[in-house]
Amino acid sequence: MKRVKRPELRLHGQKVRLKKKPVILAVSVLVLIVLLVSVSVHAASKKHTQKVSAGVAEETAAEEKLSEEETTTAEEETTQEATLPEVQTTTAAAPQTDGEGEYPGCKKVYLTFDDGPSPNTTKILDILDQYGVKATFFTICSPGEENEESLKRIVSSGNTLAIHSVSHEYSQVYASIDSFKEDVLGMQQWLYEQTGVTTWFYRFPGGSSNKVANCDISDCINFLNEQGFVYFDWNVSSGDASAKCVDKDTIVQNVLSEIGSREEYVVLMHDAGAKTTTVEALPEIIEYLQANDYMILPITANTKPVQHRHS
Ligand SMILES: [Zn+2]
Repeated sequence: MKRVKRPELRLHGQKVRLKKKPVILAVSVLVLIVLLVSVSVHAASKKHTQKVSAGVAEETAAEEKLSEEETTTAEEETTQEATLPEVQTTTAAAPQTDGEGEYPGCKKVYLTFDDGPSPNTTKILDILDQYGVKATFFTICSPGEENEESLKRIVSSGNTLAIHSVSHEYSQVYASIDSFKEDVLGMQQWLYEQTGVTTWFYRFPGGSSNKVANCDISDCINFLNEQGFVYFDWNVSSGDASAKCVDKDTIVQNVLSEIGSREEYVVLMHDAGAKTTTVEALPEIIEYLQANDYMILPITANTKPVQHRHS
């Protein structure tokens, strides 16, 4: 079990300790008071700066053309006002991995779906079952009976349940390192409440190379590493989020044109409510991969992560 470490009170890098001698004690108390006043002034000023920066980030997010093209998410039927569950410690420890990967020498494809669950998740799970393959779902907090059933089915069918975000709103998730932590742990907790499974797999909204974060992504990565999360980006983009509805053949072509002789491919796709053509494209993609001897696998603790950037 892990908890978020609480910061220690430090003065010029040293822990603040009260000593026994009265004079030193008095001086220490005085220094502490000055320090507290200075910290609260700084905090007030920082809060103002963050508000301003968050506004800028929102504008940047709207204009940014990311490969993941997350801006369509807001238009879809996700429940942005979902209440954030109170963060509690969950029951399972983070998995241990050597990061060396699995099935050495084999061509492996990891199909990943972001921004679900939605009614499309059910259809995708049906297709995966039909072809006898497993995938990974980086989910957002979207309550509702059918969505919650999909989460349970992801787990019971041997697919991999993973964390994307509670809100998927860049200005909220990346407003500060504390809001980032709250988003990640809140989503982990919500998924645990729905499925009884604690997942340690994570994907940054916009990817780890996003240019929309107000906080420092290095701090986010350090937090994930400390807690035991493993984050995955992608090295193949289906382009299914580059417009409201991308043509099915374009999605197939985007994926297959990127798949070659490398040992490992992590394919970015989306199972949000509007992504009906992704569902249509999936059988053709799987058939090509199976015909060309690629292993189609769910992400596990043994999977070598594809990451755009490191801390
Ligand atoms: Zn996303």
